[in-house]
Amino acid sequence: MQPSRTIRNSVCPHDCPSTCALDVEVLDGSRIGAVHGAADNSYTAGVICTKVSRYAERIHHPDRLTHPLLRSGPKGSGQFRRISWDEALDRVAGAFTDIAAKHGAEAVWPFYYAGTMGLVQRDGINRLRHVMRYSRQNLTICTSLPEAGWQAGIGQSRGVDPREMAVSDLIVMWGGNPVSTQVNVMTHVARARKQRGAKLVVVDPYRSPTAAVADVHLAPRPGTDGALACAVMHVAFRDGYADRAYMARHADCPDELEVHLRERGPEWAAAITGLSVQQVEDFAALYGRTQRSFIRCGYGFARSRNGAANMHAVTCLPTVTGAWQYEGGGALWSNRGMYQIDKTLIEGLDARDLRVRELDMSRIGSVLTGDRRELGDGPDVHALLIQNQNPLTVCPDSNRVRRGFARDDLFVCVHEQFMTETARWADVVLPATMFMEHDDLYQAGGHTHLQIGPKLIEPPGECRSNHEVLQGLASRLGARHRGFEMTAMEMIDATLLASGRPDAATVLREKWVDCALPFEAAHFLTGFPRSGGRFAFAPDWGAMGDRDGVMPRLPDHMATIDATGPERPFRLMTSPARSYLNTSFTEMASGRKREGRPTVMLHGDDAARLGIGDGERVALGNARGTVLLHALIVEGLQPGVLVAESIWPSEAFEGGIGINALTSDDPAPPMGGAVFHDTAVWLRPAVAELALAAE
Ligand code: SF4
Repeated sequence: MQPSRTIRNSVCPHDCPSTCALDVEVLDGSRIGAVHGAADNSYTAGVICTKVSRYAERIHHPDRLTHPLLRSGPKGSGQFRRISWDEALDRVAGAFTDIAAKHGAEAVWPFYYAGTMGLVQRDGINRLRHVMRYSRQNLTICTSLPEAGWQAGIGQSRGVDPREMAVSDLIVMWGGNPVSTQVNVMTHVARARKQRGAKLVVVDPYRSPTAAVADVHLAPRPGTDGALACAVMHVAFRDGYADRAYMARHADCPDELEVHLRERGPEWAAAITGLSVQQVEDFAALYGRTQRSFIRCGYGFARSRNGAANMHAVTCLPTVTGAWQYEGGGALWSNRGMYQIDKTLIEGLDARDLRVRELDMSRIGSVLTGDRRELGDGPDVHALLIQNQNPLTVCPDSNRVRRGFARDDLFVCVHEQFMTETARWADVVLPATMFMEHDDLYQAGGHTHLQIGPKLIEPPGECRSNHEVLQGLASRLGARHRGFEMTAMEMIDATLLASGRPDAATVLREKWVDCALPFEAAHFLTGFPRSGGRFAFAPDWGAMGDRDGVMPRLPDHMATIDATGPERPFRLMTSPARSYLNTSFTEMASGRKREGRPTVMLHGDDAARLGIGDGERVALGNARGTVLLHALIVEGLQPGVLVAESIWPSEAFEGGIGINALTSDDPAPPMGGAVFHDTAVWLRPAVAELALAAE
């Protein structure tokens, strides 16, 4: 007999700006079938990525965690025995209580990030943190650097409606790869190309799948985007593309900028970026003469020690040419600052005490190995509650992170969907729901819709939502807050109303609320959302945390990247793989089959010089570690540049050491941030390393 099929609305919760509106086939009320993009959502437009269209493979995966587990072998052994929920929660609450009594509440660190982007199930952990005065978390791993750069000039994290790309004449994809990471962008690009003959330019150090379909691909050296942006502005002033009347009304110091840029022309930029002078001139002329030019800023080019400066330099471009004034013109990085959701209830902000220590999540390895620059005068961290994150694989300097997790005096509880590397190192593992098994509220960085994803099916086994786990811990710890007394849907409803939005029932009925701002506001024609209302070519970096004064006063190439040299002649980027999203989806056989195995892309000249053949085992290394992969000789990147698409689980690598063993946890200015694409390494055939591994 055929199963009964109903189509239900949902929202993709994964760490992707597209936050797709979904139509989900629910079979017999208990399983899901095909997942489609909602055709009637004007941004999703019926398109989603392959990995989510196959979500049945993930949600009904036989390896889902379904029962609470207690470690029964050595740390990291992966040996566990099943226990009840009551025992699990009693043990976790008991450990937290004992550790707080002995070392102080700051010795407990609730740790999370974006395994789901739902506001209730992602951010609710902060309510427990604040009520219990546990250590706070500085959320640096993804948005700190691009956000600092975007806000430096513009003032708030919002930009032009991405649907306007359909009426652009030039779309510049700067440091992003939407074909792999937010496929919906390409829908709107395709409309512009088809209907208007718009050009697509991709700025990315390697020929990503998006670069491969572009009209122009500019592949600068990693970390040199600021130089390219400066040269484009130099040409704009030199050749009459600068809109001086616009800048006089809307910018802080255009005259000073023009003088500053006189020394930063195409020759100067070519020497820094490795592009030819002609490439820079051609791009500058194309950008300068196109009024409807839309820069879609990605995250990639900001994941560098100079990432905030680079982002700021790129946001200066539409201000110099005045492209903000035109429909289809301007720029967007993220609309995350547009929704103004009141998260007091979800996060327990009414209980937050800013005097409680804040720890940098990107530096969890340094934190757990006792780095006093992070710990300050407070206690060592002795307990972790981890939701929505897999730090042993995802965080920088992963060998150091592993040393931290190996401490005998560290208690770790991981609430997860699969037995990740981090879960394997836990003392207690709790089984977590997936998005169709709980209720949540979603805003979108990549578009303008607010949506609710309701629970569609029952979870397998004994899985519980993040909210339910927090409720269970709060009752045992004596944490009092009205958020712990509410269901997830009650909290969604109250949060929407507190934020001046329609209630939950209305949003569910309407499927989404389009929060797009009017044209004038979205294009900053009524002023940029910062003091004085003018775009800042000369930002107040000090106010953003640049205590050492290292940020450039005006847009520039900030030469603070991890420099190559004779010992480490290559610069490594760890760009996202198409089938994975951080480490989510790595459990799906279909995705693993498509990705093949961990590889490192390199230029043919480098391969020939080092005697490395295509497909050969190679070792990459620096002072932090050595990683074994297979070489993939490609075109479309410069000699000296390496790209390892990620994030593979560590066990997928020969030797079991993942790519983040090489990346640094140096905090980038002005306010911290992980520098995943800013790593100098050596590269060689892996013969010696394989011999060592075999011993
Ligand atoms: S494109 Fe992004 S938001 Fe859309 S379904 Fe895929 S992962 Fe989810």
